[in-house]
Amino acid sequence: MPDTRVLIAGGGIGGLSLALTLHQIGVPFTVFEAVRELKPLGVGINIQPNAVRELYDLGFSAADLDAVGVPAREWAAVGRNGKDIYAEPRGLDAGYNWPQYAVHRGAFHMALYDALRQRAGDDVVRLGHRVYGYEKAPAGTVTALIEHADGHKSTETGTLLIGADGIHSAIRAQMHPDQPPINWGGAIMWRGTTQAKPIRTGSSFVGLGTIAQRMVIYPISHPDPETGLAKINWIAEVTVDPAEGWQGTSWFGAAKVEDFLHHFRDWTYDWLDVPELLQGADVVYENAMIDRDPIPTWRDGRVALMGDAAHAMYPTGSNGASQAIVDAREIGAAMLAHGVTPAALEAYDKKLCGPISEVVLRNRGAGPFGLLYLVEERCGGEFDDIDDIVSPDERNALVSGYKAAAGFAIETLNAAPPIIPAGARVAP
Ligand SMILES: Cc1cc2nc3c(=O)[nH]c(=O)nc-3n(C[C@H](O)[C@H](O)[C@H](O)COP(=O)(O)OP(=O)(O)OC[C@H]3O[C@@H](n4cnc5c(N)ncnc54)[C@H](O)[C@@H]3O)c2cc1C
Repeated sequence: MPDTRVLIAGGGIGGLSLALTLHQIGVPFTVFEAVRELKPLGVGINIQPNAVRELYDLGFSAADLDAVGVPAREWAAVGRNGKDIYAEPRGLDAGYNWPQYAVHRGAFHMALYDALRQRAGDDVVRLGHRVYGYEKAPAGTVTALIEHADGHKSTETGTLLIGADGIHSAIRAQMHPDQPPINWGGAIMWRGTTQAKPIRTGSSFVGLGTIAQRMVIYPISHPDPETGLAKINWIAEVTVDPAEGWQGTSWFGAAKVEDFLHHFRDWTYDWLDVPELLQGADVVYENAMIDRDPIPTWRDGRVALMGDAAHAMYPTGSNGASQAIVDAREIGAAMLAHGVTPAALEAYDKKLCGPISEVVLRNRGAGPFGLLYLVEERCGGEFDDIDDIVSPDERNALVSGYKAAAGFAIETLNAAPPIIPAGARVAP
């Protein structure tokens, strides 16, 4: 009897969302995760309303998400002079039927992991199993090649294999052996969190500065009722000439505020003190803003890519984790329509690979933060009335164009049927 399991390489946000989806629709699966222990790593990420909707459909409640984050209420681009370029409500305040959440990546990842183990049991996730490649096997199966944490190797055979193994995906490297190396446009990000008072609405996502040098700031927890302090996520970003190379110690290494504070030393406003925020950090990481060139297909027979393995993107649109969740749901929907077959992967690939590859390229143009670029280009960041520099129509068009491309335009999302209807199961 062939093994009818779906093999999932990678237990990140994408892989675990797929595992939860397959459990929901009655498809057997096993997740193979390279690390020996899943830990609550990373800092802030955003989950857009289209993905929050999918989390609700997966049985997560607002209370579950409130335990790992906070609903976002506003998105704002602010010039280096401290004046608003653009601001709009987000989530429920904007008219979506679902909120947008700003969450701690690690805490959210652990919430997915805990829910999966509670629902499907401990042994559906095999830790310390790195999938380093695949072989097409006869009789309608595919074999994952696995290296264990102790170095020994083994194989696992299933019906389909999904590469959810992140930006450095081994599955993608085998599928597209001629793909260019990681793309880096010269931006270096220092990310961290600080306990501080939230600014503006109390849950605003603020991009401040210019394209070459900016701060992104948003809370990822509700404020403590006694102190009023929340966990504030920030990204301090500086762009250098990529031709000069970069002498950073690692792509996602621990860093010190002193390494980059000088870039932001005089960024003080009557509503925000950036040096104070940075100096109060509990954790600081340094990483390059990297992505990968789009590929023509995410599928090779019984194997498909999802999440960052398929479409690693610059975080300028705050859309990477959301799209990984949506990929998982679209794979599930394709299985409901076509069974657990290569045809399901073909349908998924056809639907998403082209449009999401365009989002990857759009994010290189700074995504919605292209507004900061326009302002810099037209007036060097100095303005009294923003309407004289970029008209309201032009500002609105830029931001709504991004939301439409990324799949979270308000009316379209509110009117769309669920990706996976309640109670749907794949026919045995
Ligand atoms: C440790 C970590 C911290 C992060 N922190 C942030 C952050 O602070 N802010 C932010 O915006 N984004 C962060 N990201 C990226 C963000 O989580 C992703 O962009 C997004 O959630 C898409 O998720 P994904 O599941 O496709 O990829 P990932 O979240 O990268 O998950 C991929 C998973 O696959 C595993 N894996 C890798 N190779 C193999 C292999 N060959 N076989 C089996 N398993 C493998 C990895 O260990 C990881 O668990 C982080 C990612 C990681 C792994």
